[in-house]
Amino acid sequence: MKSIGTVYLVGAGPGDAGLLTLRGAELLRSADVVICDVLVNPELLHFAPAGAEIIARGNHKRDGGLTQEQLTELMISRAREGKTVVRLKGGDPFVFGRGGEEAEALVEARIPFAVVPGVSSVEAAANYAGIPLTHRAYCSSFTVFTGHGDSTDPATALRYEQIAQIPGTKVVLMGMDTLGDWSRSLIQHGLSADTPVAVVHRGTTGRQKSVVGMLGTIAELVSQAKIVPPAITIVGDVVKLRQKLNWFEQQPLFGQRIVVTRSRVRAAKFVRQLANLGGEVLEIPAIKAESPDNKKDFVDALLALNSYDWLVFTSVSGVETFFQLFFRQFQDLRDLGGAKIAAVGPATAAKLREFHLQVDLTPKEALGRNIAEAMAKHSSIENVKICLFRAEKANPDLPQALDELGAIVDDIGLYKTVAETEDFFGAAEDLRQHGADWITFTSGSTVEFFHARFDLPKLLEQFPKLKLASIGPETSRALKALGLKPAIEAAEHTTDGLISAMTGRRNKL
Ligand code: SAH
Repeated sequence: MKSIGTVYLVGAGPGDAGLLTLRGAELLRSADVVICDVLVNPELLHFAPAGAEIIARGNHKRDGGLTQEQLTELMISRAREGKTVVRLKGGDPFVFGRGGEEAEALVEARIPFAVVPGVSSVEAAANYAGIPLTHRAYCSSFTVFTGHGDSTDPATALRYEQIAQIPGTKVVLMGMDTLGDWSRSLIQHGLSADTPVAVVHRGTTGRQKSVVGMLGTIAELVSQAKIVPPAITIVGDVVKLRQKLNWFEQQPLFGQRIVVTRSRVRAAKFVRQLANLGGEVLEIPAIKAESPDNKKDFVDALLALNSYDWLVFTSVSGVETFFQLFFRQFQDLRDLGGAKIAAVGPATAAKLREFHLQVDLTPKEALGRNIAEAMAKHSSIENVKICLFRAEKANPDLPQALDELGAIVDDIGLYKTVAETEDFFGAAEDLRQHGADWITFTSGSTVEFFHARFDLPKLLEQFPKLKLASIGPETSRALKALGLKPAIEAAEHTTDGLISAMTGRRNKL
């Protein structure tokens, strides 16, 4: 009999993926199944193994997603199959959001479980709006309650007459639809209508929106600003501190919607950097890597590595895939032989250095002809054997240019670039409907595959404010082929360079 798997109820934090706990990340890395709530940031899936089953809840009222009951059943049935299930819940699992009920269902079903706390929106959304919940000059307590607390059950009913009397900050979750009612109740029971109030929508994310007013005016202001859930409301004098401490909304990319098109497995660092700068990231990977159709050429090249004068790597994925396959065949790095090594692009060179390999040449330009000329300038390449490790069916310019300069070239496909079409969290649909501020392209192939899926010129026509960001000349050329020009091209052809160009300044990231 198969042993039963464990279910981990993991707090995913309030939105910013950087606020997941280390324990949460560790569990995600070992998950067979990940079941996400609606508000969970898809960026967290970067931690999950490539083969893990991802179940996104969706909003069952709006788009026919799973109900709470179906999710609980799913969690139990997957655990019974012996799988490790990570159930990602927004904020902290045991602060509203029915985590306690899910744990009870697991006890009843005799499924082993553990709960990992998360950073709750209670404190995190307040923090990212520049509001400390306590402060020695203002208060020494805070009280949290739900705006959906209209219960007839005396055990759970809210007593506004008591809440209004408690000194200190009040934080209200799920209080948007009932804001008018509960704010009036608090005033009726003695809280001043002038008490400062802030409403923070989607706190900690690039979509954060804050509205500040007073207890007597906030319902009207929120309705004018069209704020919808999820949002927390903070009531109390500490709201005044926001004027001084509003740090997150000052970030250079705050509020900008940025599409990341590079493959999901390579996007994590870039996505994190954008989010840390306040950007709202729409991850819409245009490509993914698969095994090449022709594997034999690689095996032949591997067995003849010693016969080459140059090994050329053109991408980080190329270096990674090469060494994965290399170490399946060999135990010792010395089996690489004594060939010189060229890397196209600083990120590729940096990846090679991680293997403690000195890169003999990093051509400044990524265009095929420039690379070939840089190699010829380094030392004559006439009759010299060169092995290119790249994507299968990559741009033919480089091997052609090398060939014309007299080199003997083997062009080895390490992986095949294919279209990515998944849209677990609806980012592609979101882009189609609401547009964005930027679409970032980190290679020519992301341009081509993204265009095949979205029709770039048409998208730009529909959303005229949309800007294209290109990592370098090769990528800009792919855009040019579509009759498009990027708003910016990175001076240094890395994601750091791309971000510097987008923010118009050099970042210490
Ligand atoms: N367990 C969650 C709360 C779930 S109840 C936690 O600890 O944060 C859902 C409510 O949480 C929403 O209605 C909203 O009031 C609040 N909420 C969740 N994420 C939020 C965010 N990013 N910004 C503001 N409020 C948020």
